Amino acid sequence: MSTGSTLLVTFDGLRRDRVSAELMPNLFSFMDEGSDFLNSRSIFPSETRVAVTSTMAGSPPGAHGVVANQFIHAVRPDDLFRTSEWEDLELAAQAGQLLDCQTMGERMAAAGRTMAVVSTATKGASRMMNSSAHALGQPVFSVHGMPVSTPDLHAAVLAQLGEIPPAAAPNSARVTYATQALMEVIYPRHNPDFCVFWMNEPDTSSHKFGVTGVETEAAQRMADENFGRILAWWQAGNGPENIVVMSDHGQITGHAQLETLDIIPAEFGRASIGSFSGIYLDDASDARKAEVVDWLVRQDFCGLVFASDTQGEAIGGALPWSAVRNDHARGADVGFTLRATNCDEQWGPEIDGCIFATWITPGGGMHGGLNRGELATVLAAQGPAYRRAFKSDVPCWLPDIIPTVLTTMGLSTIGSEGRPMVEALVGEDARFGTAPIVEQRLLSATRHGHEQYLRQWVIEGKTIVDCGWTAGTGAWRK
Ligand SMILES: [Zn+2]
Repeated sequence: MSTGSTLLVTFDGLRRDRVSAELMPNLFSFMDEGSDFLNSRSIFPSETRVAVTSTMAGSPPGAHGVVANQFIHAVRPDDLFRTSEWEDLELAAQAGQLLDCQTMGERMAAAGRTMAVVSTATKGASRMMNSSAHALGQPVFSVHGMPVSTPDLHAAVLAQLGEIPPAAAPNSARVTYATQALMEVIYPRHNPDFCVFWMNEPDTSSHKFGVTGVETEAAQRMADENFGRILAWWQAGNGPENIVVMSDHGQITGHAQLETLDIIPAEFGRASIGSFSGIYLDDASDARKAEVVDWLVRQDFCGLVFASDTQGEAIGGALPWSAVRNDHARGADVGFTLRATNCDEQWGPEIDGCIFATWITPGGGMHGGLNRGELATVLAAQGPAYRRAFKSDVPCWLPDIIPTVLTTMGLSTIGSEGRPMVEALVGEDARFGTAPIVEQRLLSATRHGHEQYLRQWVIEGKTIVDCGWTAGTGAWRK
């Protein structure tokens, strides 16, 4: 067991305010007894593959370039680039246009350390947990098998545990199987310095049955029971030194579906429509962007709008891409979220709601936007590197996790945009135990009575988004 060895456990789609002693007793105690980050946030868009990538790159989309779950990419000129699909990711990787940042897998390899992935997530999300794992010879076990899994590890898991159970919602059999694979095969066989264990619940059940659905609560209980097994195994002296627990985003309620995805005039260019949507203009001049923003803010479906001019400044009526740390050359010319309820002051499972584009039914959970219910995540840690019974109110987000783990390992964080959360660390380093100065600011843009707001934190000159909302003309439910 090397210094700083860490297991990162993820509960996909778990809202911070949905963790309770009743529903998730193991996680609740873990957060209470360890370092608990009260103001942890996802990234924007708050979509799984963007979140995975931002975590493992230790940087936001503006730095790594996976700007949305689906977008328009040069390697797929005639179709949408879908990060859920192995083939699309492989095309981009071969063209050297998948990621502009070093990943945790590459950092571990360069330091002569090992990394493993055990995942029940989609093929695409599992790939982005360690996008060059196969080239680096690092083990991966995915319930989807090859090409995501490493063939010899996959065979070893099946030989020891039998066939992988079918997918379901709640995905209990698969998550339980993967938990067993983690403890009984991956650690004994590889003893990784860094390991990612990804449970796709409660996300899957929450999409289907709603944020507060009975089945979703059953999925939370099931995921927590598996986490309890991992804790018991760890407390018995197995596995890593430290355990970090995260969720990648929350969910809010999808109340009404768009009647069609054909909401953007074809004369503008091409569009990728979802809870976060991007428009790739045929004419990407600043003047054309201004015309498109001017049209968008008058549409009933329109939430927050993002567009930057050639200098990186906001186009009138929009917020600049840099405000959400998603300013990247592969990003859309104009982006927007679908209308959601105002999450400025009032937020909670019964309050947050949004228009959605596709694939859930009304009442199901959704994410991708800037509501606090989508952005507020679980983040907590225990082990010799972390303070005990420590509640940190210093804002942090997914890109801060890997720099923190690297710091506990005594490795460099250079090249990462994230901040090591030194306030929670124990040790000789002079930075440890000291909280940074935090400032707050509110950005806004108004046009034709459409109002949008973005609340940010600023730490050491870098921003983290707290939440964003809209008001004014066309505001939903007015
Ligand atoms: Zn997710």
